Amino acid sequence: VTEGPGAADSEALATLHRIFGYEAFRGEQEAIIEHVVAGGDALVLMPTGGGKSLCYQIPALVRPGTGVVISPLIALMQDQVDALRALGVRAGFMNSTQDFDERRLVEAEFLSGELDLLYLAPERLRLDTTLDLLSRGKISVFAIDEAHCVSQWGHDFRPDYLALSLLGERWPDVPRIALTATATRATHQEITQRLNLPTARHFVASFDRPNIQYRIVPKADPKKQLLAFLRQEHVGDAGIVYCLSRNSVERTAEFLAANGIEAVPYHAGLDAGVRAAHQSRFLREDGLVVVATIAFGMGIDKPDVRFVAHLDLPKSIEGYYQETGRAGRDGQPSTAWMAYGLNDVIQQRKLIQSGEGDEVFRRRASAHLDAMLALCETAQCRRGQLLAYFGQDPDPAGCGNCDTCLTPPETWDGTIAAQKVLSTVVRLQRERGQKFGAVQIVDILLGKRTGKVIQFDHDQLSVFGIGTDLTEAEWRGAIRQLLAQGLLAVEGEYGTLVLTEESSSVLRREREVPLRKEPKKPAVARSRSAG
Ligand code: ADP
Ligand code: ZN
Repeated sequence: VTEGPGAADSEALATLHRIFGYEAFRGEQEAIIEHVVAGGDALVLMPTGGGKSLCYQIPALVRPGTGVVISPLIALMQDQVDALRALGVRAGFMNSTQDFDERRLVEAEFLSGELDLLYLAPERLRLDTTLDLLSRGKISVFAIDEAHCVSQWGHDFRPDYLALSLLGERWPDVPRIALTATATRATHQEITQRLNLPTARHFVASFDRPNIQYRIVPKADPKKQLLAFLRQEHVGDAGIVYCLSRNSVERTAEFLAANGIEAVPYHAGLDAGVRAAHQSRFLREDGLVVVATIAFGMGIDKPDVRFVAHLDLPKSIEGYYQETGRAGRDGQPSTAWMAYGLNDVIQQRKLIQSGEGDEVFRRRASAHLDAMLALCETAQCRRGQLLAYFGQDPDPAGCGNCDTCLTPPETWDGTIAAQKVLSTVVRLQRERGQKFGAVQIVDILLGKRTGKVIQFDHDQLSVFGIGTDLTEAEWRGAIRQLLAQGLLAVEGEYGTLVLTEESSSVLRREREVPLRKEPKKPAVARSRSAG
């Protein structure tokens, strides 16, 4: 047998056939594996479902010693290890869910060279006992999964990951491979720096998921809209519905079940046994819908998830992309569907302002939200925006498989409408020293004499009733877009509307404000039971 990459390569291919039963490598897998088998460090950026696991599992099998995999997904380690053992791979894990005896057994297996792969939680790796143990065995490769967790700029920061920079110092001869599905250019840089991987070769797979159709609809009655979407397009399909709060998870799951759709809730407040049962039903059964908070889905490998629906706005494009990426891993047509409205924007802005964290944290959170809002409000190809966000060049002609490509949104000149909204905010503030939320502003524009309008004499304002040319939904849409464009801001715990520095250019008529048209009739299914 000749030495060198060629030989390693064919051994890798033989392992792919013999152990995993696959015909051929996908995309960059072959180049990555060849590089790591030869002892090189690597940073792998590949979308969810792209096939990252084989990129470290095969080097671990081909190189002498045990491959050590650092993963934050403790809940999944048992499953991952079971799946590998079923293939005949000698795998084990060490985390806080084990008792002493179980851990001792794994330690003994590792020390006697009987493990191909050892999964470790990052908080274990920091312990001196673990480091001593690792020093006494032979390690083939370190794999750092979900490597974006090291990034403070990212959305999923885990302080324990910072300690992983010591791996290179303590084991300079062991190749390291860091893998993530979520990385903008800023995050790549941070990963390389913080994990101390200056010479790692970067493998950046395309982030495009052509079989996923991206759609974002204006939110009217989200549960009913979701039901209509499922009945029209995904009868009997497995899918995930994401909600922000545990409460809305429960209510949405009940609503779907009451309407004949098999759905179960999943959130961190549920009993661990219930959670595990729902997760395993989802993996095993054909057409189950899981309604979940973002606690659900990390590392879940179900190939035939046909849709991912969001009833609330994700905090960042990274989060959105990772969550929607759980659809269609089998390459078959799938839908990423989201309902999004004015309250989402106000809620999220409020959360950032009233939440914990310093000024830097707030600025970052705002920047993440702004990018997410830009995606929601764009009149351009959604996929194009996503790809551009991840540093990839989109097809200038559009993708043909997102809502804005399929039915290009109409835009209208919203300059005057914007001036009316902003003038109302200015009048309240300057003439009355008052700040109000979106509901009151819309009522004033529409000239509605509600209790609250009368109470504050707002029917005496010169702007009262100047907006009867638009509907309530159109005004809410306009305010939502002004917030997204930074021409209006949200303040305080009541979510009152205030001007921004940019607002004055609109009030001075120095700029135009193009707005997307709101659909006249939002697509809401007629309720069959309530009528
Ligand atoms: P990721 O970790 O990037 O989300 P996985 O490693 O879980 O992706 O792989 C996603 C799916 O693709 C898995 O079901 C895996 O078995 C399958 N897969 C990966 N590589 C190949 C390949 N070369 N040929 C066929 N299937 C593959
Ligand atoms: Zn498109």
